[in-house]
Amino acid sequence: MARIETPKRVRGTQDIFGDEQRRFQRVVDTFDRVRRLYCFSRVELPVFESTAVFARSLGETTDVVSKEMYSFDDRGGESLTLRPEFTAGIARAYLTEGWRQYAPLKLVTHGPVFRYERPQKGRYRQFHQIDAEVIGAPEPAAEVELLTFADQLLKELGIAEGVTLQLNTLGDAATRDAWRDALVEHFAAHRGDLSEDSLARLEKNPLRILDSKDPRDRPIADSAPDIDAYLTNEASDFFAAVTGGLDAAGVAWSRNSRLVRGLDYYRHTAFEFVTDRLGAQGTVLAGGRYDGLVESLGGPETPGVGWAAGIERLAMLVEETVAETVDVVVVAEDDAFIGEALGAVAALRRAGVASESITTGSPKKRYDKALKAGARQVVSFKGDPAGPGHRGLGASDAELAHVAQVLAALSAPVA
Ligand code: ATP
Ligand code: MG
Repeated sequence: MARIETPKRVRGTQDIFGDEQRRFQRVVDTFDRVRRLYCFSRVELPVFESTAVFARSLGETTDVVSKEMYSFDDRGGESLTLRPEFTAGIARAYLTEGWRQYAPLKLVTHGPVFRYERPQKGRYRQFHQIDAEVIGAPEPAAEVELLTFADQLLKELGIAEGVTLQLNTLGDAATRDAWRDALVEHFAAHRGDLSEDSLARLEKNPLRILDSKDPRDRPIADSAPDIDAYLTNEASDFFAAVTGGLDAAGVAWSRNSRLVRGLDYYRHTAFEFVTDRLGAQGTVLAGGRYDGLVESLGGPETPGVGWAAGIERLAMLVEETVAETVDVVVVAEDDAFIGEALGAVAALRRAGVASESITTGSPKKRYDKALKAGARQVVSFKGDPAGPGHRGLGASDAELAHVAQVLAALSAPVA
């Protein structure tokens, strides 16, 4: 017979299990708890959208749109794309679902996102993000709330140490145009020394040269003119209100005037929480203000701010977790009592007690197996006329009493 070859896991995807899964879960659970403290609503969105949703809102020249999207034609011939991020889909829903009536809208979501990138530590083709957005809020207070939320999340995950919030402003449209011209002039003067990628960016997206990782670009990017000289009064007041708000809220930040974000839609505030504990993949959480995004999808002028964080990168920083514990193990040390044991474990679970039953394998070894399971209590059925044996192994008196009560109720006549 021909050997059947097992299909492989697709490159850049992950099967998350054991300690890794528990850390992942801890990030998601903590995110869900903290978002309630900030009164953000949870939203569920489709994993795929019309390709136009991302192509229009992120911009054709961005890395994500030009080389990282998973796009395909479905059977009806429509071009669809697996979401490479959440913001564009949320903006689409804001328009198509009439969510304007709820503005300003504070939303969170989380789930898988897809980018065709070169897989390495902390970089996958299917990865997972947590995401927070405020749509319809033009005030710098929205930035302050979102950043305070992010800061608290990192603290509650126990990973804030060594992670710094880097902040920049990209100004308003007038600022950005003037700064862009100055950058083009600077980079054009060093045309011969730039990397090929940056030469291409010079025409389409010169700001991106600032965050190039190519060593040939770094000295040229580092000596480029700062945005500060080009800030309009309005843009500079806006940034001062963001930084002042962060100071008032007790959120530490530092200015990084080289920080630009990869996507076209950013205005005013851009930020990243960065660590040196993850090597090259050091950005754990990033975002900014995207006042032009909803308009690029054909909607009315709508301000928005948001951030996203890679769950895997956060999970890598989180401390090792302890395995989930079982409170009670119920053992049938004699096959005659399998029914009683199954009845008891079902009753315990209904009463909210995490339990397992052991009713298979050699009867002599079942009790040892129960001890090894690490339960806090063991209930053993073995034909003892005095009823089931019940031992607490480090369980509190209250826990013991609760289990005893459930077991006692079991032997009561069924009404
Ligand atoms: P990078 O510079 O690392 O490519 P990015 O600017 O493309 O990041 P964003 O689009 O801002 O990232 O996404 C927000 C967060 O999602 C990142 O800060 C990071 O934590 C995470 N992230 C981005 N791409 C990946 C990936 N391929 N695998 C795992 N996590 C990722
Ligand atoms: Mg990227």
